[in-house]
Amino acid sequence: MIILDAFNRPLHDLRISLIDRCNFRCPYCMPSEKYHHAYQFLDKKEWLSFEEIVRLVKIFVQLGVIKLRLTGGEPLLRPDLDVLIRLLSAIKGVDDLALTTNGFLLAEWAPRLKAAGLGRLTVSLDTLDEAIFYRMSGEKGSVKEVLEGIRAAEKAGFDSIRINAVIQRGINDHTILDLVKYFRGTRHSVRFIEYMDVGNQNHWDYSQVVQSSEIITLIDSYFPLEQLKNIKSGETSEIYRFKDGQGEVGFISSVTKAFCNTCSRLRLSADGRMYTCLFATHGANLGGYLRTSASDEFITNFIRETWLKRDDHYSEIRSKLRHTPQALPKIEMFQIGG
Ligand code: SAM
Ligand code: SF4
Ligand code: SF4
Repeated sequence: MIILDAFNRPLHDLRISLIDRCNFRCPYCMPSEKYHHAYQFLDKKEWLSFEEIVRLVKIFVQLGVIKLRLTGGEPLLRPDLDVLIRLLSAIKGVDDLALTTNGFLLAEWAPRLKAAGLGRLTVSLDTLDEAIFYRMSGEKGSVKEVLEGIRAAEKAGFDSIRINAVIQRGINDHTILDLVKYFRGTRHSVRFIEYMDVGNQNHWDYSQVVQSSEIITLIDSYFPLEQLKNIKSGETSEIYRFKDGQGEVGFISSVTKAFCNTCSRLRLSADGRMYTCLFATHGANLGGYLRTSASDEFITNFIRETWLKRDDHYSEIRSKLRHTPQALPKIEMFQIGG
């Protein structure tokens, strides 16, 4: 079944946050001043159980979802994650099962993730400079560990790993070419992400955004690029290939080139709230319905009705919304996983 929202966008992708905790404190996502030892994360009892996730995914598949992405917080902190992956990979209709991780625990997890049936892997890595990485992970992580994780994932059989790099002006923008050089000539590809005003805690300012166009010009001047056409609808990144055949690089330009018109994504927080936009201020409590013995039919109708009414397009009207004095607090990125 295909359901279309108020702007004719189908529901195709579901991003499932498995946990709101993280072993990093990236200042652009979970600044440590706010998310310190006394911060109250969700209680484990509030997490959707694997049975609940599977039940919901089967319903979502009936409504048109074909792609799943597991995320967090840090999804590799969710105990027995491989058991869930095994269950999800067996669901008919799921064409693509992916996971986004900060890579810190990837070396020990990679073989189990592959064996359980995980299809694709995205690893976040903003820079190869150890000192800058340390700062960007909230003084928690190291490049060495993430690269070891990527190598372990290759060894386990993950082919084309995506590397997510958020670029912030004055922080890591001078290290862009290092990342490009490191992954050029491999089957992996870097996705440069424009720094976004997600959540309410990162003190985002437009002056910190490095526009994709600027990064493309920089890379092209060293390694000539050409844009690949026929990007699938619903994809967030624009892909370029190196003209010398040494692979690809992508750009996610949600600040300077909004892609709301093809956004087919829905997000679930670890406690089962459903968000129709990354910048949403409210999420419907599906987890609550699951726990009050609601029927599949009721939940299906509820999701369908929510999607039919969906008219989110935050990135297209960002400047207007940001200056609305009564703007409500948005959901935080670590709660719905990007
Ligand atoms: N912890 C995992 C990780 O970092 O890969 C998964 C969750 S994390 C929220 C998902 C992605 O969101 C990461 O690639 C991260 O860099 C990105 N992200 C977080 N905050 C962001 C921001 N303010 N702007 C752009 N991307 C952001
Ligand atoms: Fe954790 Fe990922 Fe957020 Fe960094 S971006 S704090 S790794 S959830
Ligand atoms: Fe989708 Fe909202 Fe991002 Fe627009 S702003 S692309 S609607 S998540």
